[in-house]
Amino acid sequence: MANDDLSGTRGADGSSVRVVDLITQSRPSVSFEFFPPKTDVGEQNFWSALDELALLKPDFVSVTYGAGGSTRDRTVAITKRIATQSDLIPVGHFTCVGATKDQVREVIGEFAQAGVSNLLALRGDPPGGPSTPWEPTPDGINFASELVELIKSEGDFCVGVAAAPEGHPGSESIDQDVQAMLAKQEAGAEFALTQLFFEARHYFDFVEKCQAAGVTIPIVPGIQPVTNLGQIERFAELSGAQFPQYMHDELIELDESGVAQRGAENATELCRELLAGGAPGVHIFTLNRTEPAATIVRNLGLDR
Ligand SMILES: Cc1cc2nc3c(=O)[nH]c(=O)nc-3n(C[C@H](O)[C@H](O)[C@H](O)COP(=O)(O)OP(=O)(O)OC[C@H]3O[C@@H](n4cnc5c(N)ncnc54)[C@H](O)[C@@H]3O)c2cc1C
Repeated sequence: MANDDLSGTRGADGSSVRVVDLITQSRPSVSFEFFPPKTDVGEQNFWSALDELALLKPDFVSVTYGAGGSTRDRTVAITKRIATQSDLIPVGHFTCVGATKDQVREVIGEFAQAGVSNLLALRGDPPGGPSTPWEPTPDGINFASELVELIKSEGDFCVGVAAAPEGHPGSESIDQDVQAMLAKQEAGAEFALTQLFFEARHYFDFVEKCQAAGVTIPIVPGIQPVTNLGQIERFAELSGAQFPQYMHDELIELDESGVAQRGAENATELCRELLAGGAPGVHIFTLNRTEPAATIVRNLGLDR
């Protein structure tokens, strides 16, 4: 059954706000990514970080979906609350690890009922991590492109997808990821948000290859400001990004607040280079912290 009840996230004219329109009209767009908190304290931090970052008037905010669907209810509940009780436009992340097509349809229906009409369609990681072999689920979905197709067949959603500028850790080549981007676009994806990376050339090279292959949807760079050296090196390893040695050498000399300050400065510089080179916006991974996302946006003069 198609889900036509996309009652939330509506524009002044009553139509659903489509994140792709916000990205293409903002030039540049600013958006923030959060994860669903697990504890009461985490929940308080989450809503206060969201409230503070809302003052910067982001084009949209996205909420992640725990590995294997572990945060399904929380992701749906949080995006619903954002859609119905704030002026922010939420994007619900959504993975299909371990789920049958019927279970996937059920979650799509829950997002629709919650008034969330913008989704980020992801395949998700296998239980052993991103570089371990994919484990198919009987009557499940194997690639994000299939999830995009299923979501589009269920209702009038605006669907975004992930992009891996330095290659997905499970891919044999960048060309495989370029072809995956094309398949996602052909399935109906309207925008992409990238995995973290630290040097602008990785983004520009990937976008150039995608465009040469026929990808036309906006690809928004994902920015992860460094706040902790050990953590960022783990994130980089997991996602297949190179953390530059010169950044490691610079940050290892600094204390915690020095790392956070330098991390925000480096991220600001990266954003400047990306925007100057034509990136349509910046999507900042906040880890549910107000700083340094707010610092970067203010440094860029993109607070509205
Ligand atoms: C901005 C962003 C947000 C994210 N949010 C979350 C989240 O909330 N929760 C979470 O669990 N994970 C999240 N992830 C991580 C994501 O789930 C992993 O990167 C996952 O391993 C792959 O998902 P995908 O959507 O990129 O998969 P796909 O696009 O399906 O790609 C997966 C692999 O299959 C290959 N491939 C794709 N299509 C084909 C095909 N037709 N034929 C052959 N090979 C193909 C690709 O090259 C790649 O190697 C996020 C990633 C990004 C960039």
